[in-house]
Amino acid sequence: MSRFWSDLVAALTPYTPGEQPRVEQLVKLNTNENPYPPSPAVLAAIRADTGDGLRLYPDPEAGALKTAIAQRYALDAAQVFVGNGSDEVLAHTFCALLKHARPILFPDVTYSFYPTYCGLYGVDYRPVPLDAALRIDPEDYAGENGGVIFPNPNAPTGRLLPLEAVRRMLDLNPDSVVVVDEAYIDFGGESAAALVPEYPNLLVIQTLSKSRSLAGLRVGFALGQAPLIEGLERVKNSFNSYPLGRLAIAGAVAAMADEAYFERTRQAVIAGRERLTTGLESLGFEVLPSAANFVFARHPAHRGESLAAGLRAQRVLVRHFRQPRIEDYLRITVGTDAQCERLLEVLEALC
Ligand code: PMP
Repeated sequence: MSRFWSDLVAALTPYTPGEQPRVEQLVKLNTNENPYPPSPAVLAAIRADTGDGLRLYPDPEAGALKTAIAQRYALDAAQVFVGNGSDEVLAHTFCALLKHARPILFPDVTYSFYPTYCGLYGVDYRPVPLDAALRIDPEDYAGENGGVIFPNPNAPTGRLLPLEAVRRMLDLNPDSVVVVDEAYIDFGGESAAALVPEYPNLLVIQTLSKSRSLAGLRVGFALGQAPLIEGLERVKNSFNSYPLGRLAIAGAVAAMADEAYFERTRQAVIAGRERLTTGLESLGFEVLPSAANFVFARHPAHRGESLAAGLRAQRVLVRHFRQPRIEDYLRITVGTDAQCERLLEVLEALC
């Protein structure tokens, strides 16, 4: 006979993150980390705070970080929310702002955490099919709904919606919260942060995991007008009064301040993406145009699953999804030149 709590656990929707093996001797191109280290200023700031600082609780407002982020986007600190990675910011967003009697909308091919959060918080949703070229069409997001969320660029396709199309999405949904998940925006798009003063229903979510090379520190943030941010703060405070640890705050402030380093590594990743795309195309792959730090590619003569397995056998990790419509694709993170060359070498032998 099962106990009631085992039924409760069985009813929770499981989520399988990309695997995180030990990285020694692996070419790890499966979870879209930045191949370059964070700014040296980040390590210096963390070291400076590891003395007596750790004895003390962090600032429950993370005020220094909110101010640094607000300045970068010409917003006010009251228009910034911070959390442990954008995954946590997303979780609070589903809990606070997307729970509604009507189904929320997101693309059928998108970040796989969205349906998981819906399951966890009891949010009804309707997946909206991408078009034939795996693009989001804002016109498909019209009509009554309980909110809209999509990554821009989309994951795992890497395809970008121009800012004018994001604006169209907002204009089509004046009564719903529209959440733009900009985890990868710095690698080739224009942020919707500029639209925050104009649209009270817009929430933009970003992360320091990708373009600031800080996936291990776990810092993400949301930008929106004060009433939306207040909703997120209320939910956050019900879980934890402290949004981030002291070291995360110190490191994140330093990362936001080092704009020159950010720009250099960002350009290096973009240049690496163009070389990787050319290399894959010369092996016969079709590569979707990407504005992210990864590419989405398929080979007309080889199944995605067998290519991923062949790469893995040579200690090269990429991401393969079994989902219909995209099962022939590989999602490949832009690594260093040496990593990308090794990937192409193994693929050449497999194709
Ligand atoms: N949104 C999207 C679209 C992502 O791909 C990711 C990374 N897996 C995240 C959010 C979460 O990133 P993090 O929690 O590291 O900020």
